[in-house]
Amino acid sequence: MATHDLLYEGKAKKVWATAEPHEVAMEFKDDATAHNGLKRGQIRDKGRVNARITALLLDFLGTQGLPTHFIRQMDDRTLLVRQLDMIPLEVIVRNVVAGSLHARTGIAEGTALASPLVEVYYKSDALGDPLFNDEHVALVQAASPEELARMKDMARSVNHHLQSFLLPRKLILVDFKLEFGRVGSALVLGDEITPDTCRLWDADTGQKLDKDRFRQDLGGVEDAYHEVLRRVER
Ligand code: UDP
Repeated sequence: MATHDLLYEGKAKKVWATAEPHEVAMEFKDDATAHNGLKRGQIRDKGRVNARITALLLDFLGTQGLPTHFIRQMDDRTLLVRQLDMIPLEVIVRNVVAGSLHARTGIAEGTALASPLVEVYYKSDALGDPLFNDEHVALVQAASPEELARMKDMARSVNHHLQSFLLPRKLILVDFKLEFGRVGSALVLGDEITPDTCRLWDADTGQKLDKDRFRQDLGGVEDAYHEVLRRVER
């Protein structure tokens, strides 16, 4: 097999060049970090499980008319995706209070929101991914006002479609993070959708089935990731 250049290595993924100029291979690692990299570890089998969950969810969103970078799964932990000019913002959608929204507002974890809340964070390890408003986004020129509005609209649409996919599988979509990129002037959903980047609670018991099990040392991390895959696959 021809070897290709490693274009990028992040905390949870490696991105490789391919023979095609506008396509890259996204390899999911077992490595896990939390609390801005202060907690590090491995979650056994996470790369394989997260690659599969992302493939299934991005494929589903594609069928709902949302443009995503997903092309096809290449091997058990690698997806072939369109290369995007990534926008350095994280768009978070919340349906239930948890994590930093609880910390920022004091509202009890588990409080259902009357309507989804969309937040934007600036992707910068050096700055600790600060919360940005629209004016901060314009100030650093991360995206145009039109692009920002479109990203928020797309994020709300992703939320709607993911909820309708996950709830019948007894998964409550508490919150999740999206990243977008450009292909020419079009905005495309990139990155991953996994228990690393979503909070997912069992609809009957409220049990956490996501990375909070790792962040909070709750145990049963691998089992939770496998359970999410099992439900998403059916
Ligand atoms: N999230 C993520 N990457 C980040 C920050 C957050 O994937 O760098 C996800 C996180 O898993 C959760 C949602 O975005 O599903 C909201 O995270 P929050 O702001 O509550 O931050 P946290 O409590 O995870 O620090």
